[in-house]
Amino acid sequence: EKKELKLKFGVFGKGSVGKTSIIKRLIYDRFVDDYDPANEWEFLKKIIVDDKEIMINILDTEGEDEYSTIIESWIKFSQGFILVYSVIDRDSFKKINFWNEKIQNFLKNENYPKILVGNKNDLITEKQVSTEEGKELANKLNCKFIETSAKNGENIKQLFYESCILLMKKEEKKEQK
Ligand code: GDP
Repeated sequence: EKKELKLKFGVFGKGSVGKTSIIKRLIYDRFVDDYDPANEWEFLKKIIVDDKEIMINILDTEGEDEYSTIIESWIKFSQGFILVYSVIDRDSFKKINFWNEKIQNFLKNENYPKILVGNKNDLITEKQVSTEEGKELANKLNCKFIETSAKNGENIKQLFYESCILLMKKEEKKEQK
């Protein structure tokens, strides 16, 4: 008997780094730049990873000015954490530490499952944060690093593929115990 695997991800980061655009690029397979009156928070998508069908449940979050109870509810929801900055916004890169500390403190776990994402990588001429800096931070946080563009689709599928792999490994370890 095969039980369906469901994985929950929260997407965190400063406002305007492209969190909603990344999720919509994955869900609709196009760049969605229009205003969405529905204002959805939770998205569902079935994806295939290593021949396994996985239902991913993605939570879109707001910026860091929210009340800590709201932030805590986002953290509680998530099994995996997608930390996003914009490569054309150095301040958003600095804000990654804010999110990492919030999540780390709440979960009381330095090694919670996470992936670092540098989005808007299509805007090469405006780049403020280099690939090297992204890699360095990921090393420090002990997580994978990926540069994406919600606009042209670069590495979006790869991002969610890697995110699933990350959690599946954890689940397998649990089952072996
Ligand atoms: P959020 O506040 O983090 O959810 O960011 P949004 O998804 O609302 O995106 C903020 C703005 O950046 C919007 O105008 C998007 O069209 C734009 N944007 C998002 N991702 C990209 C990207 O990869 N490349 C470019 N050029 N613009 C992007």
